[in-house]
Amino acid sequence: MDDIRSYTADELKKILAEYGEKPFHAGQVFSWLHDKRVSDFDEMSNISKSVRQRLAEDFGIYRLKTVEVLSSKKDGTKKFLYELSDGNLIESVFMKYREWNSACISSQAGCDMGCAFCASGLSGCARSLRASEMLDEIYTMEEETKETVNSVVVMGSGEPLLLLDELLRFIEILSCKGGKNLSQRSVTVSTCGIVPKIKELADRELAINLAISLHAATDEKRRQIMPIAKRYSIGELMEACSYYFEKTGRRLTFEYALMEGFNDSDEDAKDLGSLLAKKNCHVNLIPVNPVKEAGFARPNSEKARRFKVRLENFGINVTIRRELGSDIDGACGQLRRKYR
Ligand code: SAH
Repeated sequence: MDDIRSYTADELKKILAEYGEKPFHAGQVFSWLHDKRVSDFDEMSNISKSVRQRLAEDFGIYRLKTVEVLSSKKDGTKKFLYELSDGNLIESVFMKYREWNSACISSQAGCDMGCAFCASGLSGCARSLRASEMLDEIYTMEEETKETVNSVVVMGSGEPLLLLDELLRFIEILSCKGGKNLSQRSVTVSTCGIVPKIKELADRELAINLAISLHAATDEKRRQIMPIAKRYSIGELMEACSYYFEKTGRRLTFEYALMEGFNDSDEDAKDLGSLLAKKNCHVNLIPVNPVKEAGFARPNSEKARRFKVRLENFGINVTIRRELGSDIDGACGQLRRKYR
């Protein structure tokens, strides 16, 4: 049975209409699910017993099970290991910044993209998540931390644009007034660069932010670490990015994981600078998180700063990502791997 929390407010209206009920009850059901966040249809006290029974016959509410929580003593970062109703495991991270809290969520259990530096892809993708499961990563995190999540980044395990329809549902429900009501401007989706899907997403003209995992400025280099680069060239990717910006007016972010001796030289900075100069974008430099199986190391902070300055000389907006939760780390996807 489907989790009813994957249905948008409009779809709930249709379901209740089929039951012969008044549409305004759909708003109440939506609010029980996404605002009050009940785990059982019987808790919906202003909904008639017969409707509650019909809903329970046709749908489920499958809450995530928290298997483990790792809490940073340094900065309040919390890493969650959740079990899905079919036993698959996923990770999410809660991060505290000065003025807001951010949730980094997974879109798939594992990943098939096979990037050489990433732990999530080491054993492939078990399956994509449903909208209800992505929402519940946030709901469960809020419940456990007793804090409010103010921004969401879809940057955990998985390639979100491979499940575009489900991702769109997730965003619609997340930003819906009767539910969490999170502004789309506070949602960021990160992709390794599935070109046709970037264009499809652009056509939706949402107000979300798009981040592109670039990590190398030439096709030759990018193909060495990201299999997707063999499918789509950097030229094609840049064209899709320009289209996204034209359609949405949202400035893109390029992520670039600095790997010592691979993509952190002055020459690399020049290649990246020339590629992105005059583009309306932001570059996020991330000293790579070492993954045992991958063999990449991070440059020291002086080298990272030098790379940053070289890029800035091209007039590009650059930040070096601040590291949170370093004491509970294990790079992206590593906690989940420990359990398999
Ligand atoms: N598949 C999507 C989203 C998940 S990965 C994507 O590729 O963007 C989220 C981000 O973490 C990506 O930028 C990815 O390249 C980066 N990442 C993965 N492993 C990393 C590591 N070991 N160190 C630093 N960044 C890493």
